[in-house]
Amino acid sequence: MSADISRRRFIASAGLAATAVCLGPQRLFGDEQSLVMAARASGAKTKIVTQALRGNVSALIGSGGNIAVLPGSDGKFIIDSGYLSSREKIAAALDGISRDPVKHLVNTHWHFDHTDGNEWMHSAGATIMAHENTKKHLSSNTRVEDWNFTFPPSPAGAIPAEMFNADKTLHLNGATIALKYYGPAHTDGDISIYFTEADVFHTGDTWWNGHFPFIDYSTGGNIDGMIKAAEANLAMVTDKTIVIPGHGPVGGKTEMIEYRDLLATIRDRVAALKGDGKSLNEIVAAKPAAAYDAKWGKGFVNGEFFTKLVYKGVG
Ligand SMILES: [Zn+2]
Repeated sequence: MSADISRRRFIASAGLAATAVCLGPQRLFGDEQSLVMAARASGAKTKIVTQALRGNVSALIGSGGNIAVLPGSDGKFIIDSGYLSSREKIAAALDGISRDPVKHLVNTHWHFDHTDGNEWMHSAGATIMAHENTKKHLSSNTRVEDWNFTFPPSPAGAIPAEMFNADKTLHLNGATIALKYYGPAHTDGDISIYFTEADVFHTGDTWWNGHFPFIDYSTGGNIDGMIKAAEANLAMVTDKTIVIPGHGPVGGKTEMIEYRDLLATIRDRVAALKGDGKSLNEIVAAKPAAAYDAKWGKGFVNGEFFTKLVYKGVG
């Protein structure tokens, strides 16, 4: 498949599914350098949908990772900043929620589809908060092997100024906001954010609703950490909790159980095959993700690529 067709396929899917950056296997795209660029450019074209949830919390869906917003007299509290190319649309969506200034931004992790808007949000007034490993990756050259891409250090204004290395609770806009660190999972800096009174939960990229997740081994992620995070996420929710995933539509406990089971099932299958001495090619040919591929493999991590990601982390 040519890089040009790949780009068009990517942009079309990003616009349709609003799950922009499930960056996929090299064999699909050929030129990952262009793919990261295309993902960034796609933010200029995709629509931003504001979804009012509960307790004044809204989700902005459509530019990279899902964004959440809690407005109020302490200034807007925002989770993740999307693509820079979506700046005008995100700013318009934020203005549509309230006139409160942008004051607080939390990054769920360092990936570009969650942090490329950091600099403009900082210039608009946001203090940026994140796990210390997120700051580390945004501050230095960071290579993601599976994207065949090296990210240069982010501009000074984009780098988080308030760090934490464990859990943290904020009191803003009348809400109790609990930040929870996972240890290595999707990266080594993943956090979730729980709006306690509203019972609205943002998982960052430890949950992808309806898509196989990417796992970033280059910056400390691994499949077992992803499963642990999926368990930790489930322990946080009831049937009533509204859950914003890093990618995919807003959902809840039922979809999170399906996701946890999917991760654990495929992990065990791949580990068993690897334990039997099968090669990566043999394991891919055995299609251990086949039962889930039709429903979960339509983004940029298909069953084959997900199998390869799991293989890296077992045995
Ligand atoms: Zn990510």
